[in-house]
Amino acid sequence: MGLSKTIWTNPTEFLRNQQPENPVLFFAPSVVQAMARRFLDGFPGLVTYAVKSNPGEEMVENLIAAGVKGFDCASPFEIDLIRRLAPDAAIHYNNPVRSRAEIAHAVARGIKSYSVDSASELAKLIEMVPAAGTEISVRFKLPVAGAAYNFGAKFGATEELAVELLKTVAAAGFVPSITFHPGTQCTDPNAWASYIREAAVIARRAGVKIRRLNVGGGFPNHRATGVVPQLDATFETIGRVAREAFGADLPELVCEPGRALCGDAFTLAARIKAVRDDLHVFLNDGLYGSLFELGQIGIIDRIEVLDPQGTRRSGAVHGRICFGPTCDSVDRLPGDVPFPDDIAEGDFVVVHGMGAYSTVTNSRFNGFGELQLVTVLSLKL
Ligand SMILES: *Cc1c(COP(=O)(O)O)cnc(C)c1O
Repeated sequence: MGLSKTIWTNPTEFLRNQQPENPVLFFAPSVVQAMARRFLDGFPGLVTYAVKSNPGEEMVENLIAAGVKGFDCASPFEIDLIRRLAPDAAIHYNNPVRSRAEIAHAVARGIKSYSVDSASELAKLIEMVPAAGTEISVRFKLPVAGAAYNFGAKFGATEELAVELLKTVAAAGFVPSITFHPGTQCTDPNAWASYIREAAVIARRAGVKIRRLNVGGGFPNHRATGVVPQLDATFETIGRVAREAFGADLPELVCEPGRALCGDAFTLAARIKAVRDDLHVFLNDGLYGSLFELGQIGIIDRIEVLDPQGTRRSGAVHGRICFGPTCDSVDRLPGDVPFPDDIAEGDFVVVHGMGAYSTVTNSRFNGFGELQLVTVLSLKL
């Protein structure tokens, strides 16, 4: 999956000219750069990019060009990728569970920031990582509604445990910090408010003045037509609540957005293989392809349909059952997918907001998954 060298004006121009048989993801560097600047200008602290959401080199390079200087990595592979593309960038190794070989790899690469949510994994870090100047952030969880996934189900210490871990981090001579992740596609700014207040309680109970508070990712991208992400309100809430909750002990703030930075910079064009007996729509992409995440967190309804000549289908919109190309019956988009009534075989189904958790989870199951990346000046059709 290499990026083509030609830059097209917009998806329509490419689709009309190339009539691609396989799914295409269109990438607009201008969109990711603008989004990076919104974060850099609006967030009251350090902006780091969660590499896992889209580790494409074109994505990372555009973020660097826009001024992003920090990266949240979860594996040796991601650490090496960022070291190669941005040798001077800050790398935070924020996967709370690591094998000893992974820790050794990070130490050898000079990684100075780690997160942890358990006594056993903290013991490994204390044993293997030189303390001086190295930050360990204690990750805690709250039961908070408002996000598409419940991140707390896998990671995050309870308040009791977080207090103990933070004391241990400080006593071992590491730079003590706190982190959390409110859950991905979190559209409610109050989720961050609850977490930040709880972080202040944990620091106070531990009697530790923390250097930094990392408020995680979870900032939403634009998936539902009627729900435009309120980034500025979220930034304002984070800054205000941190000042209120920590007072004179206000830590530096860090965020680690993934989908909010990369999500809106890609638009997918899948092709209709068949409208079976005028009923079910079969696409050349699905849950085993770039649409994997729709099965986890629900449909993106920012959908437009073009006929093969690039003209927009304009029939009344109704929900239809929509399948991906594989022979697996779970390969069905969730719920009913909104399509104009006049769609036909050979049309292009254009789905906006497809930059996060798409290229990277695309599989070759059943021989499908040949995905082309195309650079465009604009994602508007
Ligand atoms: C996945 C992840 C992120 C990014 O999450 P988004 O919802 O894409 O913003 C940030 N931090 C950590 C620790 C993660 O695991």
